[in-house]
Amino acid sequence: PYNGPTAAEILKKRREFLSPSMFTFYKKPLNVVDGKMQYLFDEEGRRYLDAFGGIATVCCGHCHPDVVEAIVNQTKRLQHSTILYLNHAISDFAEALASKLPGDLKVVFFTNSGTEANELAMMIARLYTGCQDIISLRNAYHGNAAGTMGATAQSNWKFNIVQSGVHHALNPDPYRGCFGSDGLKYAEDVQGLIDYGTSGRVAGFITEAIQGVGGIVELAPGYLPAAYNSVKKAGGLCIADEVQSGFARTGSHFWGFEAHGVVPDIVTMAKGIGNGIPVGAVVTTPEIAQVLTRASYFNTFGGNPVCTAAGHAVLKVIEKEQLQQNAFAVGSYLKERLMSLKEKYEIIGDVRGRGLILGLELVTDRQLKTPAKVETLQIMDQMKEMGVLVGKGGFHGNVFRVTPPLCFTKEDADYFADVMDHAMSKI
Ligand code: PMP
Repeated sequence: PYNGPTAAEILKKRREFLSPSMFTFYKKPLNVVDGKMQYLFDEEGRRYLDAFGGIATVCCGHCHPDVVEAIVNQTKRLQHSTILYLNHAISDFAEALASKLPGDLKVVFFTNSGTEANELAMMIARLYTGCQDIISLRNAYHGNAAGTMGATAQSNWKFNIVQSGVHHALNPDPYRGCFGSDGLKYAEDVQGLIDYGTSGRVAGFITEAIQGVGGIVELAPGYLPAAYNSVKKAGGLCIADEVQSGFARTGSHFWGFEAHGVVPDIVTMAKGIGNGIPVGAVVTTPEIAQVLTRASYFNTFGGNPVCTAAGHAVLKVIEKEQLQQNAFAVGSYLKERLMSLKEKYEIIGDVRGRGLILGLELVTDRQLKTPAKVETLQIMDQMKEMGVLVGKGGFHGNVFRVTPPLCFTKEDADYFADVMDHAMSKI
């Protein structure tokens, strides 16, 4: 049993001592005190099926015993910075990670977050090419430090920072984009930006294969190969931000970019890779990695023994429990169930995504695609009352993000769909 402070007491302290920018979900914010695999438990011991935590933290399940064991063992033995001394945890995890990547992508730089990973990736691209201009996509989220906030392209996540050298290309969004699913048409905009917005040479191009914060938007087919081609011709490096779509989540592939048949020059990752422990990484080729030897470069805690022991344990769990195969099987099944909900409820404008990164976009008018913001919140709250937690995203906050831990079962998928069905029937 939990004897700690109540939700009300925590909220009071938050208001007084924590950043006023912190937000909560739900009319009655949830105080989660325990987690076990795909479940979370509140202060009263009430169990919730967690269909969102997969993105934020847990890849293989809350408090997965193998990962906990790896963290505890390493913590008891040694936790330290990565500078100064040798330690096997970092090199073992780097080797394991490199084995999951195609081509010559085998040099790993560890960071503490996704933002840091993307900041580093963009800096590497700029150093390697000697150019400043970076192209990213409208509706992207890449982080919230100075450089990455420039690449992020949703006004609600941006402050008025200097937007140095970032150009935002048309989003190849099959549902809302002006060219529908015609990836090649959108890619022309990348060439256009290079021709008319830069010197003709660029540093790089950064994209998510499936935009997470942006509302589970899968880039239109054919887009990435064509856009990569334009960027490479302009001397730029292609950066794949796999913070949300990587690590077996898409089911069909280990990395989101693989579904598009491209090989990036730099891959960034974070969130799920430590199953809740802060760790991020940038992976690139030995040749590109050389640029960071031009000056001294380090990150005090990036790749520390405890975090890399956790990350390595996560990779082993994904293999041992065949979580990629599970994401494919359960995700495909769940998507079908959500597609049939779309037939039942007019409010569902679009069902999309793959594996266990799925989205449902809610609209009050299917023709006009008017975002159903209020209804999304109502359904989300109702589902919570029925013991199911789902995420929300998209610029208008009208997209459900279904991104559970990869241990989600077919029974969980049924329960999720039944609860969503019931919540929608009440709207
Ligand atoms: N890239 C993507 C695709 C993300 O979704 C996020 C976080 N939402 C980030 C980068 C930044 O990661 P972090 O919050 O760990 O800095």
